[in-house]
Formats: sequence, structure tokens, C-alpha cells
Amino acid sequence: MYRIAKTGAKLMIEILPNKCDFCGCCVGVCPDDAIELKEAEIRIIDENCTNCSKCIWACPIEVIKFNKEGFLK
Ligand code: SF4
Ligand code: SF4
Repeated sequence: MYRIAKTGAKLMIEILPNKCDFCGCCVGVCPDDAIELKEAEIRIIDENCTNCSKCIWACPIEVIKFNKEGFLK
């Protein structure tokens, strides 16, 4: 089963596990408050994300990926 974004489409954004350094750059650019960062834990809140891709361009170490096929739960 696919993860579903706010738009009802498949969620196409994923943060690579264990690669993020928790800098917070992506959180600041997300227009929909769809990234939750807590100390050493980060996740995308699927039901807020619109697949806009802004977080991908904001990440300095390129650990957010776009997959047009969507991500499985
Ligand atoms: S794709 Fe857009 S809405 Fe989704 S987490 Fe990234 S910046 Fe936020
Ligand atoms: S911008 Fe990249 S490295 Fe920084 S918190 Fe977001 S996913 Fe992690």
C-alpha cells in the first residue's frame, strides 16, 4: 500500500533514513508544515505534504528523495 499525500496522490517525497543530520533547512521551507523534526528524529507528515519538492532543493546534503512511483508504507 502506498503512502498518500494531502492531495490524495501517492506521496513522492522521502527522507533517507539514517542520512539526515537534522539541520532543519527543509523544515523552514516547507509551506505546509509537513516535516516534523524532533532532536534526532525527522519524518514527513504524509497528510500535510503536497509533493511540492521544495524540501528537496533545500536539503544541503541531498538526503530527501523524489520518487514519482511513490513510496510504500
Ligand atoms: S514536498 Fe513540499 S509539502 Fe512535502 S514535505 Fe517537502 S516541502 Fe513540505
Ligand atoms: S535539510 Fe536534509 S539534512 Fe537537514 S533536516 Fe532536512 S532532510 Fe535532514
